Amino acid sequence: MDDKSAKQNAANAEAPGRVSRRTFLKTAGIGVVGAAAITTGLVKLGQQEESDLPEPSEVTLRENPKNGDMISVLGFGFMRLPFLSGSSGPAPANGIIDEAAVFRMVDRAIESGVNYFDTAYVYHGGKSEVVLARALQRYRRDKIFISDKMPRMELDLAGAKEVFQTQLDRLQTDYIDYYMLHNQTTTEAYKAMYEESGILDYLLAEKEAGRIRNLGWSFHGDKECLEYLLSRPVEWDMALLQLNYHDLLHEYQAPPYVIARTSQPSPPKWNYERMMQTDIPLFVMEPLLGGRLGRLSRKAMAVLSQEKPRDSAASWAFRYAAGLPHVVGVLSGMTYMEHLDDNLRTFGPYSPLSEQEMTVLQNAVAIFVSQDVVRCTYCNYCIPCPYGIDIPAVFAHFNRYVDDEQVPKGERNADYEQARRAYLVGYDRSVAELSQAQRCTGCGKCVKLCPQWIDIPAEMSRLGRFAEQLRNEV
Ligand code: SF4
Ligand code: SF4
Repeated sequence: MDDKSAKQNAANAEAPGRVSRRTFLKTAGIGVVGAAAITTGLVKLGQQEESDLPEPSEVTLRENPKNGDMISVLGFGFMRLPFLSGSSGPAPANGIIDEAAVFRMVDRAIESGVNYFDTAYVYHGGKSEVVLARALQRYRRDKIFISDKMPRMELDLAGAKEVFQTQLDRLQTDYIDYYMLHNQTTTEAYKAMYEESGILDYLLAEKEAGRIRNLGWSFHGDKECLEYLLSRPVEWDMALLQLNYHDLLHEYQAPPYVIARTSQPSPPKWNYERMMQTDIPLFVMEPLLGGRLGRLSRKAMAVLSQEKPRDSAASWAFRYAAGLPHVVGVLSGMTYMEHLDDNLRTFGPYSPLSEQEMTVLQNAVAIFVSQDVVRCTYCNYCIPCPYGIDIPAVFAHFNRYVDDEQVPKGERNADYEQARRAYLVGYDRSVAELSQAQRCTGCGKCVKLCPQWIDIPAEMSRLGRFAEQLRNEV
């Protein structure tokens, strides 16, 4: 699955590991009529193979070297589903999922060759698995790959068995293709939850019984934990890692204070290089760094647009992530049809970044990281703050102004007063006064919860002072 083979695939050559749908069909001796049905489960139950659905785009399939599964490089993540308007509450579980919109996206994705769908027990408070099952029940199960995860909760063996059966029931299936131990962080937590409880042995028995086809883990942890996982006498079939060009091309140095709080942070680049020493197939999560890379600053975007005027910021991030050796699939949590359409253009068919494009991307990253943004991905792991600070909202407001180059600067600038007012009015509208940065007590409880190792109290202090300074300049 190296870049060379990917280039060949883009040119429709035979290339193990990066095979377009059309190429795979030829290899399998299958005609284009009914093609999608056989490669991706496109045929809806009760329909003829010669359905009059439009010929889908060529979303590239890639062979999982471990088991031969032909997986769409674009995986549909079911963690950020759309809500019916007005129904979303403060937590995702409180919204009502817009199932009609989800069905339309799933139909279009499958028609275009997407065959990998990722969910988790905790996504949307459990509704993600239910909605995924409803969306997929019109398609042939054996042509779809479902990935799901054992939640990171306080579970004993009986509880884990109940959770797994609940997942099968919610998904209306009797097996899960790719099953992960969700969100591995520390050795102690892994040992306690999976080894000492007997849950790992249970999941291995489920694999033996065929109710789990592939067993792996998703990872947000420290170096010791990754080493421990790799040292176990377990045949791991996959791993899900956070990989994106921001973290791999620019090595972020967490402040010493944050490192002390989080024991031994494991940078994504280190994780990836360590996994490269194994033969475990990789899947990518957060290729957009929680959406940050889908909306670059104007300056950074200008560099990319000069090279590829029609390509979105997201497409650069996806092409980078999918081109990393050992990567089988890249997940995208798509909320709107526009996200899906953009991704289908990127992956249908997929072509890796050229050397020239890599240079351009590096130039854009250099600009992006030199700007004053807070590297928050708005994952919400740090809330609720015991003092009510809406941490992601505070960072989102500031970052928006940095990205748009609208941060009020220099009292002598002609538009300073207008920019100052806009910033403050926008701040008060998007973050309630009691939840703003200046209310942070600096207690530091949030620091160890942030997977991006942001020094949250320091940033709160900086942004709080900045807003106060603007307010005082009337
Ligand atoms: S440091 Fe500030 S933002 Fe973090 S938990 Fe404490 S009060 Fe909340
Ligand atoms: S945990 Fe970190 S990255 Fe996530 S919302 Fe909080 S500050 Fe942002």
